[in-house]
Amino acid sequence: MIVGGGPAGISTWLHLQRYAPELAEKTILIEKEYYPRDKLCGGALSGWSDKVFQQLGLDIDVPCVWIDYVECRLGTDADCLHQPRFFRVVRRKDFDQALAKNAIKRGITLRQGETFINFRRKNDALEVKTDQNCYRTKILIGADGSLSNVRKTMQLKHSANLASTIEVFAPTNPRFDPEFNEKKIVFDYTSLKEGLQGYIWHFPCIDNSQAFMNHGIGDFHLDKNQPKANIKEIFREELEKRQIHRPVNTWSGYPIRWLSEGELVSQPNILLVGDASGIDPLLGGGIHLALSYGDLAATAIMDAFKNNDFSFHDYRNRIDDHIVGKYIKKLTYLAGEIYNEKISPLKVIREIFSKK
Ligand SMILES: Cc1cc2nc3c(=O)[nH]c(=O)nc-3n(C[C@H](O)[C@H](O)[C@H](O)COP(=O)(O)OP(=O)(O)OC[C@H]3O[C@@H](n4cnc5c(N)ncnc54)[C@H](O)[C@@H]3O)c2cc1C
Repeated sequence: MIVGGGPAGISTWLHLQRYAPELAEKTILIEKEYYPRDKLCGGALSGWSDKVFQQLGLDIDVPCVWIDYVECRLGTDADCLHQPRFFRVVRRKDFDQALAKNAIKRGITLRQGETFINFRRKNDALEVKTDQNCYRTKILIGADGSLSNVRKTMQLKHSANLASTIEVFAPTNPRFDPEFNEKKIVFDYTSLKEGLQGYIWHFPCIDNSQAFMNHGIGDFHLDKNQPKANIKEIFREELEKRQIHRPVNTWSGYPIRWLSEGELVSQPNILLVGDASGIDPLLGGGIHLALSYGDLAATAIMDAFKNNDFSFHDYRNRIDDHIVGKYIKKLTYLAGEIYNEKISPLKVIREIFSKK
C-alpha cells in the first residue's frame, strides 16, 4: 500500500509496475486530495527527471517555461551557465496530474480523497486505518510528503531537519523580472551574510497561459549552532526591490525535509520515500529525487517478497548506494561548506549544473 500520490508515490508504483507487474497489480495508492491538486513548489524540472520519464516510457507533456540559463548570485558577483533547455519550469498541479494519469493508464488502483490516519502491527503485517477503510498490508510506503503522517506514526527518533520556505507567485513585471524573457532561473546566495543557510530564487513560470514569476526563499539551517536568519525580513526586502508589496498573510510556506547521515527511514514492513524520507539541504529540489526514490523502493519491495524478509534493515544502505543517497551526501557536504563560507556558492552551482 502506498500513501501519497505526489511524484514519490506515483513513481514507486510505476517502477513496481515495470519491474514486477504482479506486485503492482496488488498495490493500492491512496491520495488525500483530488487531482489536479496543488503543491507549493518552484516546479523546476531537470534533465534527471526527464531521464526517469524516458526509462519508464512516460509522456509528461504539460505547459512549461523552458530555461536556457542558470544564474548564481553572491552580492555583486554572478555566474551564468548556458545550456539550451537546461530545465523546464512546470506548475505542480499540471505535472502531478499528468504523472498520475500515466499510472492510471497503466492500471493503478488509485483512491483519491482518502486519507491515511495510522497503522498498527498485527502479527507479521500491518493494519492501516484511513478515514474510509481499514486495510491489511504486508508493506506500507510512506510517500506523504515532508509532514508525513506515516513517519509520525512510526515514531522515528525525532529529527528536526525541516527547512523553512516562503513562496510568492506574482505576474511578471518586465521592468523588474527580466528572467522571464531571458529564460533564466536565479539562485541568489547574497543573504548568506545575513545568516541565511539557503538562498532566494526567481523562477519564470506560466499559469493559465499567463506569465508569472515564482519568487521564494529557503532556509535549511543545517548548522544548528548558528542563529536562525530572519527569512521574512530578508524576503520582504527582496520582494520590494521588485516592487512587490504584498502583506505577509498572502505569502505561502511549506517545509522541505532533508535527510541527515545515518538517519533511518524504514521499519519492518515500512519504507519512507521522497520528502517523507528527506532530500538535500543545498538546493532542496526534490522532484527528481522523489522520482528516483521510486526506483529504490520498488527494488526493495521486490527483494522483500523474493526473500520473504520484510525487515527492510538494509534500506538505509540501499539509499546510500543509490544515486539518490550519493547525490544527497555530496550536496550535504557542499551545503556545509557554503553555509560556513568555506567555498563560494558560485563555484558549487557551476560544478553541480555543469555535471547536469
Ligand atoms: C517552496 C518549495 C519550492 C520547491 N521547489 C522545487 C523545485 O523547483 N524543484 C524541485 O525539484 N523540487 C522543489 N521542491 C521540493 C519538491 O516540492 C518536493 O521534493 C517533492 O514534491 C517531493 O515529492 P513527494 O511525492 O515526496 O511529496 P509531495 O509532493 O509532498 O506529495 C505528497 C502527497 O501525499 C499526499 N498526502 C499527504 N498526507 C496524506 C495522508 N495522510 N493520506 C493520503 N495522502 C496524503 C499529499 O496530498 C501529496 O499529494 C520545493 C519545495 C518547496 C516547499
